[in-house]
This record gives sequence, structure tokens and C-alpha cells, in this order.
Amino acid sequence: MESVITKISNVNYKVAIYIRLSKEDEKLGESESITNQREFLKSWTAEQGFEIQGVYIDDGFSGTNFNRPGFQRMLKDIDSGKINMVVTKDMSRLGRDYIGTGEFIEKYFPAKKVRYVAVTDGVDTFLDSSGNDIAPFKAVFNDMYAKDISKKIRVSLRTKQKQGLWVGGCPPLGYMVDPDDKNHLVPDPEEDYIVKYIFRLALSLKTPYQIKEILTNEKIPTRAMIKGKVNNRIQAIDSKKGYWNTKTVKGILTNQLYTGDMVQNRRQKVNYKVKKVVYNKKEDWIIVENTHEPLVSKEEFELVQKMLPKNTIRNEKKIYRLLDGLLYCYECGHRIGICNPRKSDGRTYIVCNYYRLHSKHKVCTSHGFNYDALEETVIATIKKIAKEYINKQELLNQINKVKFESPIEKIKFELSKKEEKLNLKNSNLDNIYLDKIEGKISEDMYQRVFKRVSTEAKELELEIKELKEKLDNVLENSKLEIDYKNLLEEFINMSIPNREMMLRLIDKIEVHKDKQLDIYFNFKELNNF
Ligand SMILES: [Zn+2]
Repeated sequence: MESVITKISNVNYKVAIYIRLSKEDEKLGESESITNQREFLKSWTAEQGFEIQGVYIDDGFSGTNFNRPGFQRMLKDIDSGKINMVVTKDMSRLGRDYIGTGEFIEKYFPAKKVRYVAVTDGVDTFLDSSGNDIAPFKAVFNDMYAKDISKKIRVSLRTKQKQGLWVGGCPPLGYMVDPDDKNHLVPDPEEDYIVKYIFRLALSLKTPYQIKEILTNEKIPTRAMIKGKVNNRIQAIDSKKGYWNTKTVKGILTNQLYTGDMVQNRRQKVNYKVKKVVYNKKEDWIIVENTHEPLVSKEEFELVQKMLPKNTIRNEKKIYRLLDGLLYCYECGHRIGICNPRKSDGRTYIVCNYYRLHSKHKVCTSHGFNYDALEETVIATIKKIAKEYINKQELLNQINKVKFESPIEKIKFELSKKEEKLNLKNSNLDNIYLDKIEGKISEDMYQRVFKRVSTEAKELELEIKELKEKLDNVLENSKLEIDYKNLLEEFINMSIPNREMMLRLIDKIEVHKDKQLDIYFNFKELNNF
């Protein structure tokens, strides 16, 4: 692609070359490889006559956030003045998150007097070139692109899952990935005896709770002890110390994978930005029978399912409070429970569950704060953030209206142009056919022109199809944003918010021992306030 960037003289540019390759990019092909990006940027910088101060690489990092070591190192060097220019191959290398990327291009770089160039996009923050006008649009597009890729990868994973191929990361306890075939599972000799033991205990009528006690007392190692691996932060602390957990035991006893059947797609990420995992309904699981060596027979497994105690019913008398299930201890990571109102004065207190269970071991502190004050603070804080967010969105909309076309209008315009072109091609095809019949052109000529025009028409049809898909994606995403905005507005107008509202808005709230609160929203943009 031709670069529109020209050299601005009499400034001594110290260039940072920034390179990013995500796992998603890798799966789609080689064109964006680290080597390609580096060669491309080095030769571009040399052509411009700039000096390369450093090369910053993030290999295997997604562009949906900025927690990347190479990127962070670069920011440090910008802060210390080592660098005054940043170059990437295209804008999506900088980031695929619209708001975040925009912040860097529109605020951070200008504030630090750093020139930013995205070579193939023709973006240069020091030039008033036409390339810059499309920067915000591009950023939106890159955001869509990340979503697009996560969809593509999901689809291709699903195809493999349907063939009974293992496509997960770390297999469940007892299994390892076959060294000769990464899509096949084999029993892990370090772990398989543990799983067999757990099933044996269950068959001898032990409950998951009793099994957990037995395993811990007999010092049967947890996976965290064997491999140093843990899936879940809450369980991590215990399992590193060799404490087994009832939930882990129950998870093993109910996992059909141990009967030799491949069970996948049990859970998935909510979307490409949020790392939160949701559990799929059982009918959406992808099960392929007899794909690997079982650790328990199908008959025994069925028996265990019948014997397992049904989900323990929670205390019926317990009143659900607004923040029930959302509170976590910042210090130890365990849940924070809300006690029933105290009989003496009717006040409600919270307590760290880990502290409550093991208070004599001094594992954590009580975090025993007044619940009502906490709830009040949380509501007030969310209202404040919601108002600020809505104001900022309205401001952004105003700016976008004046300065840039909306991406939706832009795609619609492109689409109408392409459709017009396609109509023209089709009527061309009609015309040359008539020309042939009327003997104005030879058969030979007709064949050649027909072939060319119909190929062009087919290409256009394909482009139109892609644009329509893109439009659907953009519409879907803007709908998501509007939904969230409406939810926030609803929240602001509610005098007393309900639990459903809280669960939709908030992922979790961490309570520090010094009473600080960290609120994590389900909508990522709000977490940056
Ligand atoms: Zn705690």
C-alpha cells in the first residue's frame, strides 16, 4: 500500500517500533507475523531517515486491552523521554479497542508530544493528512474486527469439537494431551489414580464433602501442587496448600469426560472483550462418545450420578440483600457473606467467608463492616459513574456528528455504491449479449468480455455480502451500547435499585480491609472511570 506520510524535517525523531501479534491473528495466517511487521517497519523507518530507538514486541497478546508488557515498556520509555515517535504497521496493531485506542491517539500521544504513525492506514498525528480523518472510523472498525475474529475462531473450534477433537487448553485432572496428537487425550500417570480414587470413594457412599476431607487428610496432592496450575482464583489459595474443595470433587464426579466421551462447549466467554465465562445449557454441550481411554466405566458413572446429593437447598429463611453474591474479599479472594440482621440492634454486617470458616488460623481479617452503609455507598458511586458515562457518551456523539460520519452511515453509503455498480455490470452483460445477437461483436469477443464482466460482478457480489455482514456487526454492537446506556439511565431514575438490575450491571465488588471498594462492571467501558 502506498504511504501518504511525508518527512517533517528539523525534528530529530527517536522512533519506537511497536509490534503486536495475537493468538487470534496467528490462527488466521502468516501475513501479520512478527518478522513481517519488523522488516516492514524497519525499512519504512530507514526510508524516512529516522533513528530507531527501540523495538517493542508483544507476541501472543490480544489488542482488546493494553495490559501488554511490550506496550507498557514503551509507555515507560515515552514517559522518560527516550522516544518521541511511535510507528505501527496499521492501527489495529496499536489496539482493537475503540475507546482505548482513541485515548492514546487523541490524548496521550499529543500530550506527550509523541508523533504516532500507522503506516498502511496513512495515519500520522503530526500531519493534517486526509488519513487522520478516518482514524476514529478505523478504530471502530478494528473493534468490530476483534469481534469478528473471535466469532470465526469459535466457529472453527466448534467444528473440531463436533469431530470429538480436544481443543481446550489444559485438560481436566487425570488427563493430559497426547504428546503425539494435540487433539487427543490420554490418562496422565501423575494424576489418573486420584480421579479413580475419587470415584471409588463416591461408590462407597461418601459425599463430596466427605471425599474432600479424606483427600485433604490423606494428603492426596491437588493439581495445583502437581502442576502449579489452577483454573479459578477463589479456589487457588486453598488448593495450592493442598486443601481439596467440595466443588472440585463434585465437578469431577459429574464430568462425563471421565467415561471416555469427549464433552466440550460446556462454557464460553461472554464476548471478546470480557474474560467472564458463562456455562452453557446441557443441550448445547458437544459430546462425542468413546474418544479416549475412560477412567471410570459408564455404568459406575451413572450410579454415582444417582447417588450424588442434589444441590443443597439454601437456607429458606435467608433474605437476599441487594449485593448478595457480588461481594468479594480483596485480601484473600473469597466471597464476602452478608449476615442476618443482629438481634440486639437490627444492624446487618458483612464478613469474609474465609475468615469466618478458619478464623482461628488467622487466614484473613473479618472485613466486618456495616452492610447498609456499604450498599448506600455502592448505589451512590454507580449513580455518579453512570451519569458521567452518559454525559461522556453524549459529548462523544456530538463530536462524532460534527467531525466524522458515523460508521453505520459510511458502510451504508459504501454498500449503495457497490450495489449501483453491480446493477451496471449486470446491464452491461445484457447489452453485450444483445450486441452479439445483433452481430455487432464477434463470438470470440463476446466470450472474453462476458468472462471479464461476470467475474467482476461476482467479486462485487462478494464484497456486498461482506459489507452487509459488517453492517450487521456494527448495528449489533451499537445496540449493545445503547442497551447498556438505557440500563444506566433506568438505574439513575430508580430510587431503590433491584437485585436483577445489580446483577446485570455489576460483575463483582471487592471489599478491602481498609473499607475501599473496587466495583467491576459487566460493561468494560465503565471500568475505566
Ligand atoms: Zn478475606
